[in-house]
This record gives sequence, structure tokens and C-alpha cells, in this order.
Amino acid sequence: MKNKGLFAYYFLDHHSIEIGSKKFPNKSFFARKFELESLHNLKADLERLNIPLIIDQVGSDHLATLIDRYSIESLYSIDFATSNERGFMDKAIKKAKIDITWIKDHSDLLYPLQKLPFDVMELPEVFTVFRKKVERYHAPETPFEAPENPLSNGLSIESSKIPSLTELGYSNSTIDDRSAHPFKGGEDAGWERLDHYFWQTEALAEYKQTRNGLIGLDFSSKLSAYLAFGCLSPRSIYAEIKEFESSVVANQDTYWLFFELLWREYFKLISFKHRDRIFKIAGILNRSYEWGENNSLFEKWVDGKTKDDFVNAAMIELKSTGWLSNRARQNVASYWAKNLKQNWIWGAKYFEAQLIDYDASANWGNWCYVSGVGNDPRDRKFNTQRQAEMYDPKNDYRRLWLQ
Ligand SMILES: Cc1cc2nc3c(=O)[nH]c(=O)nc-3n(C[C@H](O)[C@H](O)[C@H](O)COP(=O)(O)OP(=O)(O)OC[C@H]3O[C@@H](n4cnc5c(N)ncnc54)[C@H](O)[C@@H]3O)c2cc1C
Repeated sequence: MKNKGLFAYYFLDHHSIEIGSKKFPNKSFFARKFELESLHNLKADLERLNIPLIIDQVGSDHLATLIDRYSIESLYSIDFATSNERGFMDKAIKKAKIDITWIKDHSDLLYPLQKLPFDVMELPEVFTVFRKKVERYHAPETPFEAPENPLSNGLSIESSKIPSLTELGYSNSTIDDRSAHPFKGGEDAGWERLDHYFWQTEALAEYKQTRNGLIGLDFSSKLSAYLAFGCLSPRSIYAEIKEFESSVVANQDTYWLFFELLWREYFKLISFKHRDRIFKIAGILNRSYEWGENNSLFEKWVDGKTKDDFVNAAMIELKSTGWLSNRARQNVASYWAKNLKQNWIWGAKYFEAQLIDYDASANWGNWCYVSGVGNDPRDRKFNTQRQAEMYDPKNDYRRLWLQ
């Protein structure tokens, strides 16, 4: 067979996100830094296996050129739920002159779609119903083993140079020492984080009791960015939870990390069921509300200058670090959509631009949920003052970010 071999391909996307009269880079400094660190790690790992990594900043046209130049027969990727990513691949395949097969899998999920006990179009609209169905059904898939030996690769291609943050136009180079997420990107750093959280500190054994925290490194796993960039798979994390349960302790807390991974899974499946509706103002419920679009309110929300000091502290944390705890995300999102009654899409887009762990289905699914157009059967509105009293009773969080 001629030219048998393979290369890895990554599209380094840097478009702008427009929100009202504002424009943001699609990745904040913090997210881009994490992405580039992950790419350095990936490139080194792939090179050990004799697989070059091509980093493309052009897009699907360039991918089409590569397909033709190297007579590529098959493209392998995870399956994508929404049209952006699908469209990218479809365009490249259509543009390429040679016929190519696109092989997709669900290795970023605990359960491949084909193995669910129901068709994804029958996915329950309430999380608890979904959870009970899959939990009763069977254990998640086991992780793939990585190959150990270098592959013989018939393609001689040089890996791309990974651009620096400065080359990509970023100037901020410091991490705020108050950051709850100062972690480096990459698979190695992901395993180090897991090792710290599970095995060194055994913080996992108290996860359910600490997960609503707001300050510090260890109140929750901080694995989301590693999952979002594909540095760690949910199957590997699940396998480690099971290992921890058999050798340290199995309790409500260890179960709860799996429970949260099921939330991630659920929003992924919701996006397979509802596709691009997760990005639409009427959401998956197709429900219309009157939404404001006030640029000045948006600026105040982003800059932490609203009338609510708990919301302000969180928004300053997000701007200064690219990170927010789940509790703070729920509060600022609810405040934007339900107190200020502003277009929830503006909020979701700002999170997309800012978050280190941005993930399309988790972000847009949660925003739909909080804004009353998604999967919350109770359509709750957070009372941010009561939340502050409960979760920041001594004012520590607000003092930390509002000083
Ligand atoms: C408005 C809003 C937007 C969000 N946007 C994102 C996003 O872009 N990317 C993202 O990964 N998460 C998002 N989340 C979910 C959640 O806030 C983060 O996954 C979590 O805070 C990450 O911290 P952790 O890894 O320490 O989580 P842990 O509490 O340690 O949970 C473990 C893992 O479970 C998953 N998980 C936990 N809660 C959720 C949830 N509500 N939805 C989906 N998965 C969950 C994550 O993969 C997480 O890493 C959003 C939540 C809200 C309310």
C-alpha cells in the first residue's frame, strides 16, 4: 500500500466573538495559554510515537489541501453534535479532490451513543430520569490504552511549530495569585492534578461536602479544562474513581464525582438530541421571553459593577482568571438572565470567550438550563443575596475579589 501513515491535525481557531457593541477574542489569555500548553504536551507525546502534529490556523480549506497533498483516505475524530464542528469537517471533505471516509467515535463520552439503553432522540428531558436509566444499565466504557511503541509512518511531515501567546497577540503574562485555577494545560498536568486531588490529598473523599466552595484549589476537582481540551477522558477519570473506591474509600462523595460526570454526559447528549437549538434564544424548549439587550448593563456585569456584590466578586474573578466555581457560574448567569432579564446568549458568549474550560455543550446547555429555556423542570431563579449568605457567610469571597 502506498504512503501508509498518519498525522494528527489541530485547528487553532482564533475568530472574534461579538456581543452587542463589544468584540472579544474567542479565547481569553487564560484559555489560550492552557490550549498552547496542552498542544506542547500533545506534540511531544505524538512525536514519541512518530506521529507529526499539524497545527492549522487557516481552517477547512487548508485541511482539504492536506487531504489532497498526502492522499489521505480516512479522517478520524470524535463525533460532533453541532453544526460548527461538523460543518468544518464537511467543508474540508467536500473541497478535497479525493474521496475520503470520515470515521467518528464517542471516546469523549462515558457511554458511546450506540450503547445507550435508548435512542439519543429519546433522551429524557429531565436529568434524574436519564441518570437512573443509565446507572441501572451498565458501567461506562473502559479507557483505550495508548500505543507504547513508535509507529512506522510512511508520511514524512514535519510537526508544526506551536505559536507563542505573543505571536497570537496576547500580552498579559501573569496569573493572579488569587486564582482558583492556576493549573497548566496538557495530559501530564491533567494526571498530576488528578493524582493530587485523588491520591495525594484524598480530597475526593470529601468532594460532595466541599464542591460548593468558592475559594482555593481543592474544593472541587478542577478537571473540567482537561476534559474540555481532551487532555483527560471521562472514562479514565471514572476508572480512577473506581480504583479509589476499592483502595481508599467508597462513599457519597466519591459517587458524587461520577454524578457530576454524568451531568457533563447529559449535556453532551442533549446537544446530540437538540443540535443547534442549544444556541438559539428560544432554547430547546422553544420558549420566548422578552430579553433586553443593554450594552451598558452588559459592561457593568462583565466588569463587576452591578448592584450585587456577590455577582460582582464572581465577575471580577472570571475576568481576572478565566475561571469560576459552579456555584458562582449559576449565580452570575441567573442574575444576568433572570434578574436583569438580559439576552442570555450574550452571557453564554461571554463565558465562551472567557472560560478556561469552555465546552460547547456544557456551557450552552447550562445557560439554557439557568435561563428557563433548557432542562430545569423547576425553572429556578437564584436569590443571589441568600446564596451569598449561605456560601459566603463571612464575606471572604467578596473581600478577596472586591478589595
Ligand atoms: C452557566 C454555566 C456555564 C458552564 N459552562 C461550562 C463550560 O463551558 N465547561 C464546563 O466544563 N463546564 C461548564 N459548567 C459546569 C460547571 O460549572 C463546571 O464543569 C465546573 O465548575 C468545573 O469545575 P470542576 O472541574 O472543579 O468541577 P467538579 O465539581 O469537580 O466536577 C467534575 C466534573 O463534572 C463535570 N461537571 C460538573 N458540573 C457540571 C455541570 N453543571 N454541567 C456539565 N458538566 C459538569 C465537569 O466535567 C467537571 O470537571 C457551566 C456551568 C454553568 C452554571
